[in-house]
Amino acid sequence: MRALLPYLALYRRHGGQLALGVLLAIITLLASIGLLTLSGWFLAGAATAGAAGLYSFNYMLPAAGVRGAAITRTAGRWAERVVSHDATFRVLQHLRLYTFSRILPLSPGVTARLRRAELLNRLVADVDTLDHLYLRVISPLAGALVVTLVVSAGLCLLDPRAGLTLGAVMLAILALFPPLFYRAGKPVGEALTALRADYRLQLTAWLSGNAELTLYGAAERYRRRLDDCEQRWQDQQRRQSGLGAGAQSLLLLVTGLTLTGVLWQVAGDVGGDGSSGSGPLVALFAFATLAAFEALGPVAGAFQHLGQVIACAVRLNAVVQRSPEVIFPAAGPAPAAGVALSVSRLRFHYPQQTVAAVDDLTLTVAAGEHIALLGHTGSGKSTLLQLLTRAWDPQEGEIRLNDVPLREWSESALRAMTAVVEQRVHIFSATLRDNLRLAAPDADDEQLSTILRQVGLDKLLTGEGLNAWIGEGGRALSGGEQRRMGIARALLHDAPLWLLDEPTEGLDAVTEQQILHLLATLGQGRTVVIVTHRLRGLERLDRICILDRGTLIEQGSHQALMAQRGRYYHYHRPLEVYSSAINPCRSVVASRPCSDGLE
Ligand code: ATP
Ligand code: MG
Repeated sequence: MRALLPYLALYRRHGGQLALGVLLAIITLLASIGLLTLSGWFLAGAATAGAAGLYSFNYMLPAAGVRGAAITRTAGRWAERVVSHDATFRVLQHLRLYTFSRILPLSPGVTARLRRAELLNRLVADVDTLDHLYLRVISPLAGALVVTLVVSAGLCLLDPRAGLTLGAVMLAILALFPPLFYRAGKPVGEALTALRADYRLQLTAWLSGNAELTLYGAAERYRRRLDDCEQRWQDQQRRQSGLGAGAQSLLLLVTGLTLTGVLWQVAGDVGGDGSSGSGPLVALFAFATLAAFEALGPVAGAFQHLGQVIACAVRLNAVVQRSPEVIFPAAGPAPAAGVALSVSRLRFHYPQQTVAAVDDLTLTVAAGEHIALLGHTGSGKSTLLQLLTRAWDPQEGEIRLNDVPLREWSESALRAMTAVVEQRVHIFSATLRDNLRLAAPDADDEQLSTILRQVGLDKLLTGEGLNAWIGEGGRALSGGEQRRMGIARALLHDAPLWLLDEPTEGLDAVTEQQILHLLATLGQGRTVVIVTHRLRGLERLDRICILDRGTLIEQGSHQALMAQRGRYYHYHRPLEVYSSAINPCRSVVASRPCSDGLE
């Protein structure tokens, strides 16, 4: 239950409207009971009076009462729906904003660890289920409680014994049904929440990985697993419906027994004072009992769903109560026009990892300097760039930009000063224009077209031009085109520091040289850090830094490092690879650059 507290606090914002919704629900319930009770008594009274009562029985007043109750019920239900739905949507809006605002400050590193489909499922389905708390739990329970008190008090005026019996039974139901059905529904609710998430995850994986599954002949196997999950989900839904039906049946049984008991007590004589003529009042008791029990109907179901609501709250709390690993100051130095970088004794390991990805790394880059970061795959190059953009904070050591610790820069200043091409460029399902403008919202079409031509993507400008829909649901881009889109964004985002993670990966040799030339020209005056596995064209850069297991092992110009005959020199030295090691019968000599994929 404690898991619900943060969400109940959100309900308080719309407390007035939610309370009005409950009040209107109670008025509607009472009008409904009044309608049934009064019309039951009226019909019985009129029948008993017969034609003889035409002048003695007051037909007008009860008829007016019936009509009044009917109008109140209709109007009340309409108003209740309008008010409570409006309030629920407002709460839902806040729930979503609250959840989203708690996810946003989590660093990209943290959110990357939660699968995207999983995060979306929590943001949409789990938040939706939380919505049931008011509509399915709080409102019906409050309504049932007030109806119990009002109806039994009203009937007590006519016959205390019968009124008290009805009140006692209804209160007992209100006391027993919620814990009983909460317990019975909890495992089902938890299973439903977990299976729903599991099914959606599997379905997303199935849809996005369909090409691979088909190519490797695994589609059938995955499909069966998906069907199996769906089957288990349906089984739990059936169990939940079964529980709901059980609750209603039990309530019906108790209604019948209570009705019999009440009739037994008032049979022939309401009030027990021996006065005659109370026959129609017996009908009133019968109808009042039936109608009052109707108000208890949703209570059992409410608590059966509470388990599911709590399970969703627990899952959401696991995300929203996570404290951000990186906290930016609200204000800091203004963005600078040039950036000098210094990294000292940096040490960082990813959460739940024991081996450091960056280990005792010290590096300085002067403003306007262009450097390359080279190293084996997994040597910590991308991690260093992530630390420079504060996706994570290091456990030890410090990064400084223009001699100001990175932690003291506001997020907006840091983002304004850095242009990044990530190792994996994401293309949004949007127009070409919107995909570029995210890096420079004010850029006009002319600028966008120029940049696209500069990075060799003029082909994209044919046809619909910048209005062309790209990414998912639109024109798919090749790996090299995606990379060039990343470079185009970085160029548009006019920043003094460029952090480029393998910008020319997947590009042919000619395009690579064009892009490197472009970067060298447009990068003049900027500080540029290029992570690369390519060896061609590095002599153009001011310095080359070699990383190994998270630490800097060599640095210097191309000429200096070649003369040093260290790791960099070995990267350039063709290796003789003897396939005889694999197949001793054949000895084929192949010549290629070094073994870690550097070309
Ligand atoms: P590549 O050249 O293949 O891109 P890299 O030098 O960029 O490699 P990094 O991506 O920085 O290497 O990874 C450094 C180490 O940290 C690797 O051992 C990698 O497995 C690990 N690593 C990277 N990202 C994470 C993560 N999110 N969680 C845990 N470990 C990670
Ligand atoms: Mg990398």
